[in-house]
Amino acid sequence: MNFNNNKDSRQPNIINMNRVLILEDEDSVNRSIAFLLEKEGYEVYSCYSLGEARGLFQKIEPQLIICDITLPDGSGLMFIREVRKVSQVHIICLTAMDREADQVIGYEAGADDYVTKPFSLSVLTMKVAAYFRRHSPASSEIIESGRIKFSISDMRVQIDGYYIDLTKNEWKLLRLFLEHPKQILSKNQILEQLFDMDGSFADENTVAVNIRRLREKIEPDSAKPEYIKNIRGMGYLWNQECRRNI
Ligand code: CA
Repeated sequence: MNFNNNKDSRQPNIINMNRVLILEDEDSVNRSIAFLLEKEGYEVYSCYSLGEARGLFQKIEPQLIICDITLPDGSGLMFIREVRKVSQVHIICLTAMDREADQVIGYEAGADDYVTKPFSLSVLTMKVAAYFRRHSPASSEIIESGRIKFSISDMRVQIDGYYIDLTKNEWKLLRLFLEHPKQILSKNQILEQLFDMDGSFADENTVAVNIRRLREKIEPDSAKPEYIKNIRGMGYLWNQECRRNI
């Protein structure tokens, strides 16, 4: 697959795991699906052709794809087959009503589910919601690291079994580290992921201030941090193994 230059320059938000790619050339259908899913809080990326979808797929790494079959530059089935070679992303196929053959071919190509056209938008959004409920790591996941126990679903954090209070930013920062242990995160990466900001507009100290506050709450001695290490000139690193429990 080629990496296309796409108008959409947004970077995937790794905090929000629920990215949906819609491949549907009918403008009104595409827009209605996107509108409803965005309202439900998903990060939605619309495309209208195979060419566009190929580029966007690589760029955003969606968790779910809604894929029409008949497209201006080829068949959606082709896209599904290509995606299946490289990814287990959940694919819901939009097929023509009463064409059982389409559904069979859709499954053969690697689709996981289908909705027949003309379809009910609420059925489609329910299918999307059901998928994310079952598969989202945010559903009931707990991450443990050292003395820290972090619950994604109820947004609570324990240290040695005692709950601690974190602000929203501290919580998001901690989650970012726990989901990327032993990886260097640059100040700009942290800013972009946490505050949906372009690093160039942010105050130099925003990250440092948030890191300091988080350290004061989680480190046994914030002057000698064990969890969040400074990597000189590069950024910060979560210096503990993380274990996930569902
Ligand atoms: Ca179509």
